[in-house]
Amino acid sequence: MTMSSSVPGEVVLDRFQRPIRDLRISVTDRCNFRCPFCMPAEVYGERYQFLPKQEILTFEEIARLARIFATLGVRKIRLTGGEPLLRNGVEKLVAMLAGIEGVEDLALTTNGHLLAQQAQALKEAGLQRVTVSLHSLDDDVVGQMNGRNFGASLVLKGIERAAEVGLLPVKINVVVIRGVNEHTLVELARFCKERGYIARFIEYMDVGTLNGWRMERVMPAAEVVRLIGEGMPLEPVEKDYRGEVAERYRYRDGGGEMGVIASVTQPFCGDCTRARLSPEGKLLTCLFASNGHDLREPLRAGASDQELQSIIADVWRVREDRYSELRTSMTERPAQRVEMFRIGG
Ligand code: SAM
Ligand code: SF4
Ligand code: SF4
Repeated sequence: MTMSSSVPGEVVLDRFQRPIRDLRISVTDRCNFRCPFCMPAEVYGERYQFLPKQEILTFEEIARLARIFATLGVRKIRLTGGEPLLRNGVEKLVAMLAGIEGVEDLALTTNGHLLAQQAQALKEAGLQRVTVSLHSLDDDVVGQMNGRNFGASLVLKGIERAAEVGLLPVKINVVVIRGVNEHTLVELARFCKERGYIARFIEYMDVGTLNGWRMERVMPAAEVVRLIGEGMPLEPVEKDYRGEVAERYRYRDGGGEMGVIASVTQPFCGDCTRARLSPEGKLLTCLFASNGHDLREPLRAGASDQELQSIIADVWRVREDRYSELRTSMTERPAQRVEMFRIGG
């Protein structure tokens, strides 16, 4: 075990001088959807073996690690999955994380299916805001994109409820896939604009190895901006902070904003300050990492906070990931990559 010491407040930088600012915690590898771009039903069928309970970090373990990450500079925490609302009692975890010193932003990304019934409890536990994935308003398109033929209505109820209880601002993640939902984007953008939700159009990424990704399926973010801007004129907004992944635009008529995440056509690795914790306690330093660094083993073997802090800091210091920037020059993509539902996007 390496023992270089880190005291609270020390800023840890990676090989490209990037600090560690955001932590995305995947609380489960399970999901009630089978989005073909993430967990295709043919692969994740009845007999697929998800992680057994004892391999998944407990809430206490997650909260302890999150506290340690906060001492190393993490200011934003996002809960994700799989589908985080499938994890029993997730609001208890929210309450534990909400109390961590230094954490300024606590958010959760969900597919929205169970949100209407849980929004109030999440808010009361201290969650600040939610991002809900909704890729279209068209029931057929939505049904195809969630792989379950569920229409949009439950997700829409969830979004409405989240706004009502004050999980604001509500952001809507829209994965854009050429030939699948591109014809419904303008309608969705208008819907969000009218209700004050912030739509974020995400380029379809080649995460994992099982979603059959092809470059022809990627609709460049610049094209999405042009398409939406045709009917609802837009102007760019300055980035809020280093590491913000969305390029933001405001509607010129004062009707709010939208954003695009151009991870494929305009990669932003240079400013990437995100660490990811998988459900079984692996620390991943990139969405496209082929494997992670196990924190569960030392955690369960009785490592002290200081030891865990050193392990995390040492992993971060040697980080040199910039997959998206290298993607275009690669002749072959690495055969082994972590699947999206394990690390939560
Ligand atoms: N289940 C939750 C959900 O869908 O919001 C949280 C986990 S999901 C893996 C996190 C985000 O990644 C979602 O907004 C999802 O749409 C997005 N996502 C999944 N696969 C993707 C892909 N291949 N390209 C781009 N975004 C993707
Ligand atoms: Fe589930 Fe989210 Fe992946 Fe869809 S994108 S399969 S909802 S984890
Ligand atoms: Fe960060 Fe890796 Fe994405 Fe680059 S490819 S922005 S390093 S997660």
